Amino acid sequence: MPASEFDIIHRYFREGAGQISGANANAIRCGIGDDCAVLAIPAGEELLLSVDTLVETVHFPKSYAPALLARRALAVCVSDLAASGATPLAFTLALTLPEVDEVWLAEFSAALAEAASEYAVVLVGGDTTRGPLCMSFQVMGSAPSGQALLRNGAQLGDIVFVSGNLGDANAALAFLDTQSSDLQPHQRELLRRYHTPAPRLALGQKLRNLATAAIDVSDGLVADLSHILKASGVAAVLRLQDLPLSAALIKHGGAIDSALSGGDDYELCFTVPASRRADVEVLSASLNLALTEVGYIEAGSGLRCYDAQQNLYSPRGGYQHF
Ligand code: ADP
Ligand code: MG
Repeated sequence: MPASEFDIIHRYFREGAGQISGANANAIRCGIGDDCAVLAIPAGEELLLSVDTLVETVHFPKSYAPALLARRALAVCVSDLAASGATPLAFTLALTLPEVDEVWLAEFSAALAEAASEYAVVLVGGDTTRGPLCMSFQVMGSAPSGQALLRNGAQLGDIVFVSGNLGDANAALAFLDTQSSDLQPHQRELLRRYHTPAPRLALGQKLRNLATAAIDVSDGLVADLSHILKASGVAAVLRLQDLPLSAALIKHGGAIDSALSGGDDYELCFTVPASRRADVEVLSASLNLALTEVGYIEAGSGLRCYDAQQNLYSPRGGYQHF
């Protein structure tokens, strides 16, 4: 007999809900199985929440491996918590499936449980429907009242930093459908970056009392930094020779354009007062994560990019910021 909606929920989602840990361990009063989940927000904290929808062929390729899909989808959504400085708490999943494929569901839910425990978010509810493959994740976290990182706080003279390397995931789009055995090592490394983004949760939390604004780089540095600039009512200068580029991306080619305009990296871009530059260095060492100074905030509006010869550079993609 084919599995019913309730069998699916019970078998694949109720059992493997991930493990909560840390400060929010006692927050789940009621999880999957009731009309509402009930969460207790830690005293003195605010609830931070975000929802992301992923549609097959729009946000991930057709026949994408279910384990990669689950991991990547949750990572992408949790990245918004990271960018806001949240301590992760819980998530819900609205899942639309074309059919009940138990092998697919087993792989998807096992990978989801693994990723959930890695990020310390518990699956507390959702919805299961039939239709073209599509999923919405709503993630929830908390931060001490007034300390969530927003986009609107960048100040004149702040330094612009980015975490990790930029552009890798974008470069991988060129060979998403290529058999791994046909790829060179540097291409496999770029592909790994596309498939398994690492939400910068620890960084986001440490930036609560340090950054004036932050965003995760999902649409490309130019587009996402521009959101900070617009929200903060300021302008910025980027130095292209300072962009953090991986050896794999440099070998692949087109590195600067990938780093500026390519999305899917899920690194954080943030602004910090120049007086606190040393604190960022200490943080970088303690997290063992590159935090690279790529530019600065100035008065005005829009973003100007300069190459090593001090020539103005227009990023590809037709952004209207100049
Ligand atoms: P209702 O009709 O009250 O909305 P549902 O029948 O949709 O309840 O779901 C039953 C329970 O299973 C609820 O607690 C709901 O949150 C949970 N649930 C449904 N689908 C999922 C899913 N894909 N992942 C996690 N929990 C789910
Ligand atoms: Mg329902």
